[in-house]
Amino acid sequence: MDDPIPLSALQHFVFCPRQYALIHIEQVWTENEQTARGRGQHERAHGGGSEERDGVRTLRALPLVSREHGLFGVADVVELLPDGSPRPVEYKSGRAKSRLADEVQLCAQALCLEEMFSGSIPGGYIYHVASRKRREVTFTPELRAAVLAARDGIRELLRSRRLPEPAADDRCQLCSLYDECEPFAPRDFPAGYDPFETRPIP
Ligand code: SF4
Repeated sequence: MDDPIPLSALQHFVFCPRQYALIHIEQVWTENEQTARGRGQHERAHGGGSEERDGVRTLRALPLVSREHGLFGVADVVELLPDGSPRPVEYKSGRAKSRLADEVQLCAQALCLEEMFSGSIPGGYIYHVASRKRREVTFTPELRAAVLAARDGIRELLRSRRLPEPAADDRCQLCSLYDECEPFAPRDFPAGYDPFETRPIP
């Protein structure tokens, strides 16, 4: 049986497979201002405990697991509606990640909650800390399939132990691993080029 995949890994992989590999396989992590702010906000959201307001119970730092889908992690916030059904809420400090990375992470939480609470969850929320606004995300069949595709992609990468090629596009500008990744550095010497050959100084 394959090892379960952490929910945070799905987000990194969907955003950029190389970022996933650098963080989760090569254990490279660099903190910048944005990640430090995000970590502080996650730690506050992950402070644990619960509260109730207007019939909605808010659970913080809820451990999640899906044996069926091979996923595990911790939800920032899960709201229990008056009928007892759960809705995941993921806190984000930075700009929305491209390629539905945040949505895939949120939907993966829902897959875990559906198994844990034995029910269907139609949607959840991403809460943007900077604007203090939440936006609704519908868990469509396509988004659910994207979660499982990312999980399978991660497993394939773990088997291959291969560091993916850099994305080298607009994703890199705000990436906290830019310096370690060197996405725009030349990687191959031209044919016939010997880097150790002694050359006259022009
Ligand atoms: S710098 Fe670009 S290629 Fe490298 S990990 Fe970040 S997003 Fe991926």
